[in-house]
Amino acid sequence: METPGSQTSLHRANLERVVRAVRLSGALTQAEIARRTGLSAATVSNIVRELKERGTVEVTPTSAGGRRARSVALSGAAGLVVGVDFGHTHLRVAVGNLAHQVLAEEAEPLDVDGSVSAEEGFDRADALVRGLLAGLESEPGKVIGVGLGVPGPLDAASGTLGSTSILPDWSGISPGKELARRLGAPVHVDNDANLGALGELVWGAGRGVRDLAYIKVASGVGAGLVVDGRVYRGPGGTAGEIGHLTLDESGPVCRCGNRGCLETFAAARYVLPLLVPRHGPGLTMEAVVRMALEGDPGCRRVITDVGRHVGSGVAALCNLLNPSRVVIGGSLADAGELALGAVRDAVGRYAIPSAARQLSVVSGALGGRAEVLGALALVLSEMGDASLLGRELPMSVGAFT
Ligand SMILES: [Zn+2]
Repeated sequence: METPGSQTSLHRANLERVVRAVRLSGALTQAEIARRTGLSAATVSNIVRELKERGTVEVTPTSAGGRRARSVALSGAAGLVVGVDFGHTHLRVAVGNLAHQVLAEEAEPLDVDGSVSAEEGFDRADALVRGLLAGLESEPGKVIGVGLGVPGPLDAASGTLGSTSILPDWSGISPGKELARRLGAPVHVDNDANLGALGELVWGAGRGVRDLAYIKVASGVGAGLVVDGRVYRGPGGTAGEIGHLTLDESGPVCRCGNRGCLETFAAARYVLPLLVPRHGPGLTMEAVVRMALEGDPGCRRVITDVGRHVGSGVAALCNLLNPSRVVIGGSLADAGELALGAVRDAVGRYAIPSAARQLSVVSGALGGRAEVLGALALVLSEMGDASLLGRELPMSVGAFT
């Protein structure tokens, strides 16, 4: 046994620290690794050389700010990660590697609210993933982990989907176990807003930011919160339920049982009926956004009202958490500046000036891919480093959480 604090366990801890930095960030220069880990340049240089010899990292020449540098990333050959995203109307899958490269993606329509049983949904996900892996000439055995997104509340303790009107036939099942049984790899599960936040953080409009909120406005309204580079979920996994902030105590009754929640002023099922007198039934949020951008006054009014209401929720969030960026996702994001301008107006009106000044409000850069790419990022953020370093070195003692 190694004694905590011995040379060997310190060395192991330093190896893990460097692996963790590049696992979460993709490629970093040695100077950036030194800044993020607090290790000296000489130590980083020695550790990178050792990790390269072990085949854990790859080192490529790069020019950072005009100066020649060496870019360090986890080896693309070290293993694959898989993302699976179940939406209300689609199923998306993606395969990436540990160097943060997305290698393949595919999507197909799926109706989880209607006719598709959970069993059939997971069988189709399994088949899509196996198809992508076969196209890459990779064995399922190379998959280190799978990230899975579900559009409903998960019970943090049991990992089962709660009984909810969103996924009536899927309640009570454990999506992580269903997929792990089929694919034979560990599965990490999270909700769509948290995955959208992770996707935008790693590949999209949140790159380079450590504190952000991703607000998904679609059939519901939810937020994924990233605090100091990590998703904040809270002990019960319910952090980010921005859709149930009370805006009007005597407003419409919400599906949560309260009255006048933000969701009752912004979610599609409450907003679309406002346009029935003008446009008739059968509207979708996508159609309303399109007509608004084409100049239809009723649709423009509805979209800016939604933006304003979302903005008062963002103002509350801004006062509490002081994020540097808010990324708007879901169908509202497609309205671009029409919606973003209304969000910013409300933030300017309701947030304290010092918090609002530092905040930028932008649209998501990944569109409908944010969640499935976030599922890849979830594996990269949750997987342990021990599997990447092999067993011949002793485990470090509680160095990181
Ligand atoms: Zn509510």
